[in-house]
Amino acid sequence: MHTQFSYAQEMDQSDVLREYRNEFYVSEKKIYFDGNSLGLLSKRAELATGKILEMWKEYAIDGWTEGEHPWFYLSEKLGEMSSKLIGAKPNEVVITGSTTTNLHQLVASFYKPEGNKTKILADELNFPSDIYALNSQLNLRGLYPDKYLVQVKSKNGDTLETEDIISCMTEDIALIVLPGVLYRSGQILDMKTLTEEARKRNIIIGFDLCHSIGAIPHQLSEWGVDFAFWCTYKHLNGGPGSVGGLYVNEKHFGHQPGLAGWFSSAKDKQFDMEHTLIPAVNAGAYQIGTPHLLSAAPLLGSLEMFEEAGIDKIREKSLRLTDYLMKLIDAELVEYGFTIANPRNDLTRGGHIFLKHPEAARICKALKSEGVVPDFRNPNGIRLAPVALYNTFAEVWHVVQILKIVMAEERYKKYENKRGVIA
Ligand SMILES: *Cc1c(COP(=O)(O)O)cnc(C)c1O
Repeated sequence: MHTQFSYAQEMDQSDVLREYRNEFYVSEKKIYFDGNSLGLLSKRAELATGKILEMWKEYAIDGWTEGEHPWFYLSEKLGEMSSKLIGAKPNEVVITGSTTTNLHQLVASFYKPEGNKTKILADELNFPSDIYALNSQLNLRGLYPDKYLVQVKSKNGDTLETEDIISCMTEDIALIVLPGVLYRSGQILDMKTLTEEARKRNIIIGFDLCHSIGAIPHQLSEWGVDFAFWCTYKHLNGGPGSVGGLYVNEKHFGHQPGLAGWFSSAKDKQFDMEHTLIPAVNAGAYQIGTPHLLSAAPLLGSLEMFEEAGIDKIREKSLRLTDYLMKLIDAELVEYGFTIANPRNDLTRGGHIFLKHPEAARICKALKSEGVVPDFRNPNGIRLAPVALYNTFAEVWHVVQILKIVMAEERYKKYENKRGVIA
């Protein structure tokens, strides 16, 4: 029976990725289910960071061109290492900026209002930063967001219907920006179909992959997605504030970036120091200034593990972990008023489970004091992310047991039902 602990132990024994847990700094006193907000530190990421510091020590300025990982080429190299995770060509990806600055760059580059094709289409469930960026891009061009930003509505407040998005792809839309996986409900959008429909209507389409990269496979090149952007501190375990990433389809190569800087240059031209920019003929053209080496360094170690384990195996285990978690919730927790608000099926369920409960804020506080790290999302959401590379089926079992005790003994009532500053 899956409700018995022995079932979890059997699943762990047959897990082909189980050795990777030893690669991470996992606290034995805590169960960490928040890897979709900040992934854990791995030993390889730590070593890689040490290596970049060593290069600084040993080579100083010459580190740009010498040593094992010459800094001048590192953003492109890390892009190449990320490309399989999103199904892109190696030169279509670069590690640079942050989610939000990359979105600014891509909108500045790809939003070209013309004639009556002038509006941007997003959704009403997206992360606030993305919407702030879109609004400010419109404001910069003197266009009122009220009129020029269209947000697809959600029928249930948690998920979006492909049909509803497509019906918003009207003649006046010039650009679409949507998440690959929704940050709250974990719903995977049908990026392939949405891209096909956008292309039929001659609309540029880009995706925010913050919650999908490192959690699910993508085929961006094959689908013909125009651009994408993401952070690397969630499922990719790059560390707090690690450098973000972007993808630009090769059909767009060779243009001037919307926001230019000397690192947008073709590498062999950059040090000519001319005042006319000759942009790189790859995704590197969308870089702006000197790369943040120390915040990119952990990715050298972290991405190596993704290359080795392979995103398909990671996805397979992730699906089994979240499926197991849902089965246990159904069996043990429904009587306490929890609702599973993420999509249940394998095609549309991302890397985390989204539970709703009116007392969510204080249930999360009680869980933390019992040694479980969940993720509260205002006003009533609990995200639980069992991560394939370092969490176990036994931990899933324990989390459900602890949650059951917190509810049965009303331990959450010791806390105020209010969110903290960061939650
Ligand atoms: C995490 C996240 C962000 C964060 O943006 P940063 O610029 O990296 O701080 C933005 N958008 C989405 C959808 C996210 O999930």
